[in-house]
Amino acid sequence: MYDITEITDKMAGNQKVNYDRVLKKMIDEWMRIEIRPTILLHSCCAPCSTYTLEYLTEYAEVTIYFANSNIHPRTEYERRAWAQKKFVEDFNEKTGKQVGFLEAPYEPNEFIRVVREDGLTEEPEGGKRCSSCFQMRLDIVAEKAQELGYDYFGSALTLSPKKNSQLINEIGIDIQKFYKTNYLPGDFKKNNGYKRSIEMCREYDVYRQCYCGCLFAAQKQGIDLKQVNKEAESFLANRVK
Ligand code: SF4
Ligand code: SF4
Repeated sequence: MYDITEITDKMAGNQKVNYDRVLKKMIDEWMRIEIRPTILLHSCCAPCSTYTLEYLTEYAEVTIYFANSNIHPRTEYERRAWAQKKFVEDFNEKTGKQVGFLEAPYEPNEFIRVVREDGLTEEPEGGKRCSSCFQMRLDIVAEKAQELGYDYFGSALTLSPKKNSQLINEIGIDIQKFYKTNYLPGDFKKNNGYKRSIEMCREYDVYRQCYCGCLFAAQKQGIDLKQVNKEAESFLANRVK
């Protein structure tokens, strides 16, 4: 669907790739040939999906795929999944768009097993454990996208200034080789994307978490997981009322 030679050449030469520009070129091509492709977009909680959906739904049909077995504890996972689904519903209602929402099975033991087996428990946030975590989740998204016949798979993660966009895009491009679906490159923090996401979080009253998601990073950051669990439990109990 698009030629990634330009990107892979730069990657081989260790040059930085402007993935925002790559996505724009791709969108220009969709518009030229008058298509609205389908995208299965990974997101690990609502904030990164806000602006990313506002942007992408102008040009494509998007479904959010909540595939995040890295999140600990379970109650916090459920809270983030609920907040993500709620944001999609509110966004659709407000904009008239038809964003879909799908959730992958929650298999935290599998995530913990891989991290332990690969000796990544002590890695700092942004280190090798995160590469492995991005890879695991993007692979699940690509597999699902292929199964359901989506044109593209991608992630809203590049909206976060704390995440390494070059790395996430490189992993996505690498995974694309194994599937019949295409990786959607991007760098959604660009064009004031991150700033707009903060505005949208306020506008939609979106829950913003205080740690990335896994047990290991939370412990390093000194997060009180008992308190997180308590707050998530209380949130989940009250949300159904
Ligand atoms: S990167 Fe952080 S803010 Fe963005 S979706 Fe993931 S957990 Fe949420
Ligand atoms: S810090 Fe975040 S990205 Fe890194 S391994 Fe943990 S959950 Fe995954």
